[in-house]
Amino acid sequence: MTNTTISAYAAPAPKAPLEKTTIPRRALGEQDILIDIKFAGICHSDIHQVDGDWGDGIFPMVPGHEIAGVVSEVGPGVTRYAVGDRVGVGCFVDSCRECDNCRAGLEQYCTGGGMVGTYNSVGRDGEPTYGGYSTHLVVDENYAVRIPESIPLDAAAPLLCAGITLYSPINHWQAGPGKKVAVIGLGGLGHMGVKIAHAKGAEVTVLSQSLRKREDGLRLGAAHYYATSDPATFAELAGSFDLILNTVSADLDLNAYLGLLRTDGTFVQIGAPENPAPVHAFALMGGRRSLAGSMIGGIPETQEMLDFCAEHGLAADIEVIRADQINEAYRRVQASDVRYRFVIDIATI
Ligand code: NAP
Ligand code: ZN
Repeated sequence: MTNTTISAYAAPAPKAPLEKTTIPRRALGEQDILIDIKFAGICHSDIHQVDGDWGDGIFPMVPGHEIAGVVSEVGPGVTRYAVGDRVGVGCFVDSCRECDNCRAGLEQYCTGGGMVGTYNSVGRDGEPTYGGYSTHLVVDENYAVRIPESIPLDAAAPLLCAGITLYSPINHWQAGPGKKVAVIGLGGLGHMGVKIAHAKGAEVTVLSQSLRKREDGLRLGAAHYYATSDPATFAELAGSFDLILNTVSADLDLNAYLGLLRTDGTFVQIGAPENPAPVHAFALMGGRRSLAGSMIGGIPETQEMLDFCAEHGLAADIEVIRADQINEAYRRVQASDVRYRFVIDIATI
């Protein structure tokens, strides 16, 4: 393929509604694959970036870092993939490949200049990157993963961000049999956290704003479900959890939640609201508690996650939408009205 122009949905300016447009894709390099994108998930991070919550973005912005598709062309040096393979791309499309983290398969924590985001970033060629709300993607084969045959492509797409973002801390902090894990927020990330932690053998509790989604939470694998709008929840669950995974996209009173950790328990910040959160020293000191963070996952762990999901029959609960429904879907995600991930059918672009 030579340098080409493809169709996409983009936000032309910060906070602006997305509209149909065209963008360039580079010619296939030695190690590149061309992906016919079939589905792209809508992550709350897409909305944060369009809205400029994390600082200035690069506009026009084509979001989308939960990409599932099929390889339609390969560069001359490609060895890992062939035409027809089902592949996924997540939050990054490159990194330095030389630092300790890149060598360890922790490309998301690249210290040699940082990962190159799938969109809202600048690639090696100095050009802006554009994400998965588009018909095609050219990516280095080392930054794609294989989607197992048993997972439908639409339900697989959200695994590329929501899935790995919860799998990685669940793995790192060894949530498994005998461990009590709480997931705060039953949205796109949270619902995958419940499924994966349950499949790993942990006892899972959902902490949601209300009991509205209780039936779903229990069906997804939670043993317990509490409303955080009820102050009695914090008294009843004090000192309960080995691990708390906070997936909330808004500001929370972390001190109240730190009180729910057992001695030596860990609270992992995963949601990425724009404001800093104050933490009292005593909320951590009493009980030798840890406050940690975790960001997506590297390529090897993403492949491991997909294989784990296939083995355990897991995928995302999705609502497939047309491309012209993206703006409406954004409003529904902001209103916590999503069960549990919107996925764009790219054929409708
Ligand atoms: P989402 O689908 O909107 O889910 C967020 C959930 O948070 C909502 O469903 C809701 O759950 C809860 N929530 C929302 N507003 C709240 C409020 N004001 N108070 C309390 N709870 C509230 O979003 P998502 O796609 O899962 O993403 C969640 C966050 O993770 C975003 O900030 C996103 O940018 C971030 N993220 C981080 C990483 C990473 O690598 N660390 C990766 C991807 C995304 P209930 O209705 O159950 O209360
Ligand atoms: Zn995401």
